[in-house]
Amino acid sequence: MKSFDPTAFRHQFPALHQAGCYLDSAATALKPLTLVQATGEYYAHNGATVHRSAHSAAQNATDRFESARESVRELINAASHQQIVWTKGTTEAINLVAQSYARPRLKAGDEILVSESEHHSNLIPWLMVAQQTGATVIKLPLDQRYLPDLTQLEQLLTGKTKILAIGHMSNVTGGCPDLKLAIELAHKNGTIVVVDGAQGVVHSPPDVQQLDVDFYAFSAHKLYGPTGIGVLYGKSTLLAEMAPWQGGGKMLTQASFDGFEAQSVPECFEAGTPNIAGVIGFGATLSWLNTQDIVQAEHYACSLAQLAYEKLATIPGFISYRAQNSSLLAFNIAGFHHSDIATLLSEQGVAIRSGQHCAQPLLDAIGVSGTLRASFAPYNQPDDVDKLYQSLIRALSLLE
Ligand code: PMP
Repeated sequence: MKSFDPTAFRHQFPALHQAGCYLDSAATALKPLTLVQATGEYYAHNGATVHRSAHSAAQNATDRFESARESVRELINAASHQQIVWTKGTTEAINLVAQSYARPRLKAGDEILVSESEHHSNLIPWLMVAQQTGATVIKLPLDQRYLPDLTQLEQLLTGKTKILAIGHMSNVTGGCPDLKLAIELAHKNGTIVVVDGAQGVVHSPPDVQQLDVDFYAFSAHKLYGPTGIGVLYGKSTLLAEMAPWQGGGKMLTQASFDGFEAQSVPECFEAGTPNIAGVIGFGATLSWLNTQDIVQAEHYACSLAQLAYEKLATIPGFISYRAQNSSLLAFNIAGFHHSDIATLLSEQGVAIRSGQHCAQPLLDAIGVSGTLRASFAPYNQPDDVDKLYQSLIRALSLLE
């Protein structure tokens, strides 16, 4: 039986003892004990590599490595574990699609449609591949809620549009576009859809089959997992058409000076010794997460953000960029610089992010140079909202 108990959930996160009031989970989530233990146990008692040696430690490591892949498959309801490619993170996963899927297929005159709210990770790889192929990156503008405007999407999709790059959830506003509709419209046009799931997977893991998404990328570290691990999900037919991107050990079946024969998917995209401890740790994290009612947990985190929104809204000059029902609260206080406020909050033990959040085009569209962003996770508590509010009042009084 899945359940969510905020106190028990919180106890899983030892870093909270040091981190104090941690409101920066959208940058990276804190790590549960399960992860710390699984990673430590691998290094202390195993330490062997995967998919190479026949001895029992290596076999055990390989089994756990592959069972983590299966846990990811379950999380996003992929049809097969072979559709799950380990990468370093969302960034590498999107670059893999850009270089291995898009680059050989794009030519001058083709278009890549990218939503204006994308994190740089889902923009720069497309600008790079456009430079390499002569294709053009076209902006999918935002509507009044700062969400990709799907009515404009219909008009912008033409015979030239080969790829649509869109995020599941904005890391600034927390807004989520109607992905299913965006994918349906793109597919009607024969356009492949690449979804940046870095934030979305944390708040509502997708059903990739139901969404019919072509590629979905995410990072383990925002989902309570380790840094340096990410996932690319792809449709089997598309992954099978892609040539390997990086060459090296274990991505081939035979090699000579005349050439090599690539392994099958997904191993052909996983050259070199992987982050074994990270993958095993992520597998343990997902097993723990599977015991939690993540719908309830998300509901709780959003209610904290709502509480913070209501409290902060009483401060003169408060401007919110928060999408409805989001656990992120991006805001500014008119007349004060976001980074000055963040520094003074940090001095009072409140960790929040300030700046452009790697989404400069979105901030340009909003018309601000930066924002503060408090991001709430299920390990936060109402006390964190009070601390944020009190520290903000104090920071503003010091800056006045
Ligand atoms: N996309 C979004 C929406 C993000 O929030 C982030 C992380 N800030 C990324 C992509 C990049 O993730 P990573 O750095 O783990 O590759």
